[in-house]
Amino acid sequence: MGPCSAERREQVLETARQLREECGSIPFIYRAGAWKPRTSPYTFQGAGSEALKWLTEAKSVYGFDVATEVATPEHVREALEAGIDYLWIGARTSANPIAVQGIVESLTLSIERSRLDESGKLKGVLIKNPVNNDAELWIGNIERLEKTGIPVMAVHRGCNHQPCWAMAHAVHLAKPNIPLLIDPSHMSGDAEKIAGLVQKAHELGFDGAMVEVHHKPEEALSDAKQQITPRKIREVLLEEPTSHQLISNLPTTVSESTAKELSWLRAEIDELDDQLWATIAARMDVSKRIGEWKKAHGIAPLQPERYREIKEKLKIKNEKLKIGGSTLSEAFMMNVWELIHEESLRQQES
Ligand code: PEP
Ligand code: MN
Repeated sequence: MGPCSAERREQVLETARQLREECGSIPFIYRAGAWKPRTSPYTFQGAGSEALKWLTEAKSVYGFDVATEVATPEHVREALEAGIDYLWIGARTSANPIAVQGIVESLTLSIERSRLDESGKLKGVLIKNPVNNDAELWIGNIERLEKTGIPVMAVHRGCNHQPCWAMAHAVHLAKPNIPLLIDPSHMSGDAEKIAGLVQKAHELGFDGAMVEVHHKPEEALSDAKQQITPRKIREVLLEEPTSHQLISNLPTTVSESTAKELSWLRAEIDELDDQLWATIAARMDVSKRIGEWKKAHGIAPLQPERYREIKEKLKIKNEKLKIGGSTLSEAFMMNVWELIHEESLRQQES
């Protein structure tokens, strides 16, 4: 827990003080980014090396371990020299195996050096999922890091402000001994969604959470909409978890770990349903634009030739849709498509 960015010494220390006051009984690592991978060059890029001092000051005043993000071998060297306890590799860096390998090599060198001079005792490295939905790449990064012998944790932060439960599930199955954390802040981009996502992760058996916390979220220089106050995170973490209704109604013969399997599968289904609705809604948007075009050119919404053409295409697709053990019948596909098409016409006419 901690701010997206270490912005100023006072902000790092004040957020730390409030976290210690609110969450003193909850074990946590204090996080803040010194080097920020921002989309635009015109936004705050992080305070850089200077911020490491603020983090280690917070550590010595309040006594918790501290973490920061590294994206280059030089960041690793500086962070370890400063005495940072945990490092995390962000989603953009995680998408680039050459960058991850560079970090791994820098870690290996630093570990060899620290054996000689007793400084820079790193406690662990957290690796976020890549920005793209790629379980294999995430697993590959974990394996690169495992070679260093440093404890590794995986952080599911989703893609495009959506969870990717199937990817997290695949990583969890492939690496059952790697602690899996959720980052509900980057996963949603929305402070209002943090509590629900933490609850969901709890149901799935996640081992912890990395949450962005700022003493004044509305004034944050990065990710202001997704940061919450130390008081709020305390409420979220201390809230009694409520089990999913259907899960709690399962027969008593079903063990907790078997029930978790069902929770993971349901999470995957929910994610796919969300994608289905988003795709259908996006299709309606394009359809409306087509409707406007037709209106402007005096053409009726229903064009029989186009209608027949799409139905023919569906028949061909049907033969090819024997993917991954499921075959979609032509009747089913036609029914679904007819419903979508009808709604499309209604929206074009409205
Ligand atoms: C962060 O944790 O501040 C961050 C930049 O996250 P991500 O790499 O997940 O975008
Ligand atoms: Mn952030």
